[in-house]
Amino acid sequence: MNLVPNEVKDAQVIFVSHSGGKDSQAMLAQLIRLGLKEKIVLVHADLGEMEWEEMKPWIESISFGLPVNVVEADLDFFSLARKYGRLPSGMQQFCTDFLKIKPIGKFIHDYMDKHGITKAINATGMRAEESKRRAGKAPLILSKGKGTTGLYMPKKHPTHLIHDWLPILGYTEKEVYQEIELAGQKVHEVYSKGFSRLSCVFCVNGRISEHKEASKLRPELARKVADLEKELGRAYRLKQSKGVKYPKYMDEYLPIFEKKVA
Ligand code: SF4
Repeated sequence: MNLVPNEVKDAQVIFVSHSGGKDSQAMLAQLIRLGLKEKIVLVHADLGEMEWEEMKPWIESISFGLPVNVVEADLDFFSLARKYGRLPSGMQQFCTDFLKIKPIGKFIHDYMDKHGITKAINATGMRAEESKRRAGKAPLILSKGKGTTGLYMPKKHPTHLIHDWLPILGYTEKEVYQEIELAGQKVHEVYSKGFSRLSCVFCVNGRISEHKEASKLRPELARKVADLEKELGRAYRLKQSKGVKYPKYMDEYLPIFEKKVA
């Protein structure tokens, strides 16, 4: 059952963050099915070199005719890691904050100012199945304080009332694919290559098998990430020896770095 909450009915605009991935795609398809198209403003955070490709054309092909707004952070993944002197991780995912949440947040406030909007929804395609942290999220909440995107900032933007909404929080992966199929769409081809998500090519949350495959498809980028690891003395992964943890550098396990035996 998909009911449209009152806050969503009252909102003048529903900002929908779209990565190009299957969850964003299912979320948008669901909102269209619920008759909310007129209120939707689509926004994509461009991840620069870490994108599989320029995502705008792909998202436009599955956007039900809606225009796609693209935003970009001041720093890319590499300059961000250098600025902090470390790499993001599943526990410290500052990359998401800088590369996605902040530029999208700025877009939302600018758009509201420009169009005199006072009530808006910030919709994202998170699902409870993905992690414990996500499972603990509220499906709809005033965007302020812990666990929200903090977009409701009464001091800075006194007229902007913004709620975070997670329309597909309860969806299983199967339901995601069903929603996409119902819309007559297909997912991005990256999923057929063994990737579980479409986001940064070398996501800090990616599986080893995904990074191995990504290094074959994007060897230059793999080298760049591996060089970054060495430069910072930090790695995506850790290894343990005699109870002590060490960085497990990509050039130790990615196939493109395999030493050739003469
Ligand atoms: S996709 Fe992964 S690496 Fe990229 S911003 Fe999100 S968590 Fe960070």
